[in-house]
Amino acid sequence: MAEETRKLNILVLNCGSSSLKYQLINMEEKKVLAKGICERIGINDSQIKHTPIGKEAVIIKGDMPDHKNAVQYVIDALVSKEHGVIDSMDAINAVGHRIVHGGEEFASSTVITDEVIEAVKTCSDLAPLHNPANLIGIDACKQIMPNIPMVGVFDTAFHQTMPKKSYLYALPYAYYRKYKLRRYGFHGTSHKYVAYRAAEFLNRDIKDMKIVVCHLGNGASVCAVDGGKSVDTSMGLTPLEGLVMGTRSGDIDPAILQFLAEKENKTLEEVTSVLNKESGVLGISEISSDFRDLENAIAQGDKKAALTMNVFCYRVAKYVGAYAAAMNGIDAVVFTAGLGENNGAVRSEICSYLTFLGVNVDEEANKCRSIERDFSHEDARVRTLVIPTDEEMMIARETAKLL
Ligand code: ADP
Repeated sequence: MAEETRKLNILVLNCGSSSLKYQLINMEEKKVLAKGICERIGINDSQIKHTPIGKEAVIIKGDMPDHKNAVQYVIDALVSKEHGVIDSMDAINAVGHRIVHGGEEFASSTVITDEVIEAVKTCSDLAPLHNPANLIGIDACKQIMPNIPMVGVFDTAFHQTMPKKSYLYALPYAYYRKYKLRRYGFHGTSHKYVAYRAAEFLNRDIKDMKIVVCHLGNGASVCAVDGGKSVDTSMGLTPLEGLVMGTRSGDIDPAILQFLAEKENKTLEEVTSVLNKESGVLGISEISSDFRDLENAIAQGDKKAALTMNVFCYRVAKYVGAYAAAMNGIDAVVFTAGLGENNGAVRSEICSYLTFLGVNVDEEANKCRSIERDFSHEDARVRTLVIPTDEEMMIARETAKLL
C-alpha cells in the first residue's frame, strides 16, 4: 500500500442525483485500483458497493443523507485497513468529475475554480437532472478534500467542434440567441476515446480518418468524427434525440407531444416523461429495456422482440448512412458500450445495411465480446471495429493532463 501512495492517483467521480460512482486510477500504471458505487443517497437504506480490484466486492450499509457523507464513505473505503488500496487521503492527487453539460462555455476539460462552478450552474437549465447533481459532488469534495485539485470533464465538450450547420435547429434564430437552444450532443468522452483508440488500433493517423462511432448502451448515440473532431452527433439539446434507446424514443415527429397530451389527458411534462422513461426498446417490445431479455424472447420466437431489434438497428444504420454523407465517406464504423461491445447480432444487422459503402463483415470475427477487434472481412473497404469504451480512464487522463 505504501508503494501506491507515492504514485499519481486520480479519483474519478460520476455523481447522479442519488448515486455516486467512483474509480481510483493509478496513472503511472494506467491501472484501476478500486471502484464502486454509493446508492440511494438521500433516500433510505443507502449503501456503498466497493471493489478493490482483484478482490471480492464488499457492501457497506450506512447513513448517507447527502453527497458529502457519500464522498466520506468513498474515502473511508479507499483507506480502510481491510479493503482499502491507499494509506491515506493524501495519496489522492486529484479528482476528475464527470460533468454532463458544459453548454457553449466548455470546449475542453478544465480545472475547477469558483468561476467554473458558476459557469456550470448557468448550464443547469440545459441539463436540469444532471448538472445540479454534478455540482453537489464537486461541493462535497471541496468540503472534504479542500486541498486536492479538481478537474471537470464534460460530456458535451468533444462536440463543441461541430459546425453551425450541424448544431442549429430550424427554429426561430432568436431562440438560439436567447437560450442557446441548439444541438450539444453527449457521450463525448466516450466518442473521443473510442475514435482515437480505433485510429491507434488501425495504426493510422486520426487526422486522415473519417470515423463513425456507435455508442450503443442504455443511452445510445452516434458521432461523426472527421480528422479527430466531432462534426455531428445524434443526441441534441438533451440526450432524448437520435437513436432508439433502452427507454427513450429518440427521434419522433414533434407534433406527437401535443397529440398525446390531448388524447391521453397528460401534461407536457408527463408526455416528456413517457418519451424518456417508457419508450424506446421497452416501449416497443413491452418486455424490457435490456437487450439481453430481448435476445431471450427472440430465441423463443417472440415477433415483437424481433421487430424491436429491427427498429433499433435500422435507426442506427440510417444515422451511419447520414454521417457518410456528412463526411463524404467513411473509413471505419466503430461499436462500443454495452450493446456495441457485446451484441454481435446487433452489429451484424446494422452492418447489413451498409454494404453499399464498402462495409463487409467477417461473421466469425464478429463473434466477440468486450475486446478490441477489427471484424471486417479482408475485402472490406470500410473497417468495422469493436473498441470497448473507458470513460473513467479518459476522465483520469484529462485530469492528469491538466495538473
Ligand atoms: P449504460 O448506458 O447504462 O451504461 P450499458 O453500456 O451497460 O448501458 O448498455 C446496456 C445494454 O447493453 C443493455 O441492453 C444490455 O443488454 C447490453 N449489455 C451490457 N452488457 C452486456 C453483456 N455482457 N452481454 C450482452 N449484452 C450486454
